[in-house]
Amino acid sequence: MIEVKDLCKRYEGEGRWVLDGFSASFAPGEVVALVGPSGCGKSTLLRCLNGLEPFDSGHIRVGDAVLEPGAASKSGAMVSSIRRRVGFVFQQWHLFAHRTALGNVIEAPRFVRGLDVKTATELGRVLLEKVGLEHRAGAYPSELSGGEQQRVAIARALAMEPEVLLLDEPTSALDPERVGELVALLSRLRDDGLTLVAVTHEMRFARELATRMLVLHGGRVLEEGPPEQVLERPRHERTRAFLGLER
Ligand code: ATP
Ligand code: MG
Repeated sequence: MIEVKDLCKRYEGEGRWVLDGFSASFAPGEVVALVGPSGCGKSTLLRCLNGLEPFDSGHIRVGDAVLEPGAASKSGAMVSSIRRRVGFVFQQWHLFAHRTALGNVIEAPRFVRGLDVKTATELGRVLLEKVGLEHRAGAYPSELSGGEQQRVAIARALAMEPEVLLLDEPTSALDPERVGELVALLSRLRDDGLTLVAVTHEMRFARELATRMLVLHGGRVLEEGPPEQVLERPRHERTRAFLGLER
């Protein structure tokens, strides 16, 4: 369970509040599609949720770990605790180029969780199987397709056994068929009880996968609800305008 309360954030030297009193909570097994116009602060919010970005006020609670302003700039125990619970799949995946798929997945279990090579390798193989890539365990990122690299990044995030997985525009580099595969994979993870929060511009993806859609505007939640409701009967004119542009 993640609880975010009155989160405010502005970048140094900038007058504008990117997040301006954002509050929301994300329950186990929930899949939240976070949508909103370009530049409205979606990626910033995800980075805050994972302790990668400091914020100015408010707090983020994940289980019994609480992040407060300024915490992300320190490498404190709270930040490590949050990062362990909240996995992040970046838009560009950020795989280690000089490690194989399996090597990427077992890095954190070995060096952060302190598992021995054999145990970490067993875990890595199970996770690669889960994302359908057991046959590519020995391949380097440059030898993998975009969709495959993304699945390695997902397996790598899962290796920390997070409670929550954040995904920043997971469909942006995928063709329609790969999007379908990603929906199937994320549905399985949701069925395992993982909380998923995905930033997306693709309304089909949101509709097929999300249990809740959250529209970000002006640094806070403009409107939220089941995807079919938000997409078909938006309450706010701004949501309508946004969907008209994005759909
Ligand atoms: P997109 O849909 O285009 O990915 P977004 O909703 O993810 O947009 P963010 O990347 O969170 O938007 O950016 C929110 C605002 O903060 C933008 O105006 C952006 O220019 C600004 N911003 C982002 N990162 C920084 C930074 N490191 N320093 C200063 N301003 C930043
Ligand atoms: Mg973004």
